[in-house]
Amino acid sequence: MSAAADALSRTVLDVPDYPQPGIVFKDITPLLADPVAFAAVVEALAAAGRDADGTVVVDKVVGMEARGFIFAAPVALALGVGFVPVRKVGKLPRETHAVSYALEYGEATLELHRDGVRPGERVLLVDDVLATGGTIAATRELVAACGGESVGVAVLMELSFLPGREAVGDLPVTALSVV
Ligand code: AMP
Repeated sequence: MSAAADALSRTVLDVPDYPQPGIVFKDITPLLADPVAFAAVVEALAAAGRDADGTVVVDKVVGMEARGFIFAAPVALALGVGFVPVRKVGKLPRETHAVSYALEYGEATLELHRDGVRPGERVLLVDDVLATGGTIAATRELVAACGGESVGVAVLMELSFLPGREAVGDLPVTALSVV
């Protein structure tokens, strides 16, 4: 088992029926409190932004509010590139692009500053859990609206019983563990 997969299996807790019956919530807070595990996971996520020779191949790392921020920011520092936040509607102070997408119940809107990603920039998307893929698909649309190109997705955990990969389309997905 890789150091990152070992770190996840040691630290992430399954919380049944949270936030509603039938959902098994992946609690990453014990992972964050363990600096060895946290570092292993950040390094493994950052590998998705390098080629086989170790050369950094992305210009920006985008993280989604809120848990995506926790991982995307150190991944950006590890790669020596900028971190860009995608936020829930109404949180970013300047001109944004916005995309709305369906949730299991209802709808959500995400925003990205229009100058957060420059035309032609290559972007790595980082989040904690790939579930239905709606968040990643919406973020990809936001990056495209800025003229950037999403070149990969890196997540800690992929929930294989949900169609997340299909929603993500042809974007390469790096999942440190598949559950
Ligand atoms: P989705 O758009 O359905 O792929 O959902 C992705 C977002 O929902 C991620 O940012 C996760 O933080 C959160 N999420 C979805 N399912 C879970 C779960 N079982 N445990 C923890 N977080 C989850």
